[in-house]
Amino acid sequence: LIILGIETSCDETAAAVVVRDGDGRGEIRADVVLSQLDEHSVYGGVVPEIAARAHVEALDTLVQEALAKAGVGLRDIDAVAATAGPGLIGGLIVGLMTGKAIARAAAKPLYAINHLEGHALTARLTDNVAFPYLMLLVSGGHTQLVLVRGVGDYQRWGTTIDDALGEAFDKTAKLLGLPYPGGPAVERAAKSGNEKRFSFPRPLVGEARLDFSFSGLKTAVRQAAEATAPVSEQDIADICASFQRAIARTMDDRIGRGLARFNAEFPGLEEAPALVVAGGVAANQALRGALQMLCDRHGFRFIAPPHHLCTDNAAMIAWAGLERLAHGFPADDLSVSPRARWPLDGQAVAVLGSGK
Ligand code: ATP
Ligand code: MG
Ligand code: FE
Repeated sequence: LIILGIETSCDETAAAVVVRDGDGRGEIRADVVLSQLDEHSVYGGVVPEIAARAHVEALDTLVQEALAKAGVGLRDIDAVAATAGPGLIGGLIVGLMTGKAIARAAAKPLYAINHLEGHALTARLTDNVAFPYLMLLVSGGHTQLVLVRGVGDYQRWGTTIDDALGEAFDKTAKLLGLPYPGGPAVERAAKSGNEKRFSFPRPLVGEARLDFSFSGLKTAVRQAAEATAPVSEQDIADICASFQRAIARTMDDRIGRGLARFNAEFPGLEEAPALVVAGGVAANQALRGALQMLCDRHGFRFIAPPHHLCTDNAAMIAWAGLERLAHGFPADDLSVSPRARWPLDGQAVAVLGSGK
């Protein structure tokens, strides 16, 4: 099976061609991403109108490029997969409409994909991961711990009650005068910092629920910056290191509870279960180190796909389409609408309700 994937939910315009063989193994034939980072960075965040316009300008060329790289034409593909939500509605409209137009013109089935499902299934494209497993999505817009029981079968165990983790990195960076996006800048600054200088809050630690909260951290960072004003380079490094330590400790507690719950719900699995990560923050070494140790303690495999497949891309959308196709899910009606909000565990409802 071979599919064309399209992703336009945020600030990356992307197209990909992916293959799935009879044993369920995937292979990426083409994966092109155009980041709009430069267009948004002057504003310190993603501007929806600029994003939508940039998707319109870039998408057709990117689709052509992906097909050319893969060496296939539209008649060779089995289906088209396009992100239908959640995300910025302008971008979603551009990507889904393009997907529909291609599907219609080439007489191929269309799969309207939930962006979060793309992140959730990526580990099965890059690694040999069997259901059920746990997925931690940590990006600029999402922080979720999700039980992945099968294709289209997800249960959200935890989510952020305020800021996303990537957002906390971005806001911290902004407060400290570091460049956007904040994650890489904070991680770089933290390298020469003293992680014990500031004791930042560890929200929800010790609580039984599996949710996250990061907005208190940004307040604490602001207070630390004010207390040390004028902030020196060393102060910034110390704040960043202490910030990352608070996050590593918080995640250790939150995710540790999730792994324990998983082991209690699924005793005696044949293979060691997996914790897979997705989202841009998964690049963070301090977080990865904490998660790796945690997995070792709880008998989990820790699976982190390569960075370019953790951040937004179309290969994961193509792959989710292939998994749906291979598992016998019906294609979507061409009247399916994009959805700015679309929770992952509402998937079944969304599929049944598409086009209505
Ligand atoms: P979403 O996919 O949720 O719609 P998004 O496009 O913002 O949102 P990604 O592209 O997956 O998400 O990731 C971007 C986020 O990852 C940003 O918040 C960025 O600061 C963060 N990030 C990137 N690299 C690192 C790093 N090394 N450490 C921490 N955070 C990082
Ligand atoms: Mg992004
Ligand atoms: Fe994403």
